[in-house]
Amino acid sequence: MFASLSDRLTSTFKNLRTKGRLSEADIDATVREIRRALLDADVAVSVVRAFTASVRERALSAEVSGALNPAQQVVKIVNEELVGILGGATRQLRLAKNPPTVIMLAGLQGAGKTTLAGKLALHLRSQGHTPLLVAADLQRPNAVTQLGVVAERAGVPVFAPHPGVASEYEAPTGDPVWVAREGVATARSRHHDVVIVDTAGRLGVDAELMQQAADIRDAIEPDETIFVIDAMIGQDAVATAQAFLDGVGFSGVVLSKLDGDARGGAALSVASVTGRPILFASTGEKLTDFEVFHPDRMASRILD
Ligand code: GDP
Repeated sequence: MFASLSDRLTSTFKNLRTKGRLSEADIDATVREIRRALLDADVAVSVVRAFTASVRERALSAEVSGALNPAQQVVKIVNEELVGILGGATRQLRLAKNPPTVIMLAGLQGAGKTTLAGKLALHLRSQGHTPLLVAADLQRPNAVTQLGVVAERAGVPVFAPHPGVASEYEAPTGDPVWVAREGVATARSRHHDVVIVDTAGRLGVDAELMQQAADIRDAIEPDETIFVIDAMIGQDAVATAQAFLDGVGFSGVVLSKLDGDARGGAALSVASVTGRPILFASTGEKLTDFEVFHPDRMASRILD
């Protein structure tokens, strides 16, 4: 992902390297190329507009001095602006003062929520936490079984509503709000310090899905609500994120399928458009294909 954006930006900067000094026309030409590269990569128009305006203004007023030549100065500015749209500083997962930390996962069907539940559980377990997974996605026929499988791989228990799933904690009901609430109560009574609640998604945004997610949110009062977005869905990412922000609200984002070959710009826009930080990136189907998201490292990777 981002390969084409990365190539375009790098070649734009290459053209500047021979210049000893940048005229306003040079800067405008460069900003135009950056704008085109970002738009071609599917970065949201509003984000591109603010980004390029800021780069232009800063490049025009940059001091021509010091150790950096003009091209390096522009790269530095673009890098800083990229870090900015990606959310600025790395934001750690917020752990509750009084455990358990309640984490709710939300997003469309196929976004990668169930897979993420396993990845997050493994990540937290490796840091010494004792997560419990809760299977409150009762929409998709296989979701509960699938969560059972990832829980087993991650080596953590699951609170699941179907007796077929290998679970220490069985819930005798088909009501996702009840399952979520009981799951969190079970985590508390059995001293799990983190509880991760997987919720149902649909293929598209709809009112019923939002209502169910909002009901679960109200029942469990999450410390973190994580919106999982498939980076491959392109331009729809921003509208989907906005719909979840309005309908359910969320405190952080996970970009999934960053290993794909989509242009990636829409994923780059989500933090900026929603004002919510990207906490993790999911980069494959294995539970270890998972990383803490660092805006500065991602920006450097794009400009490398
Ligand atoms: P959910 O419906 O939101 O729970 O989505 P799933 O977790 O079931 O994921 C949907 C599909 O995407 C599954 O086939 C996963 O194996 C796959 N998947 C999830 N995360 C990633 C990822 O980061 N990279 C790739 N390549 N595939 C992923």
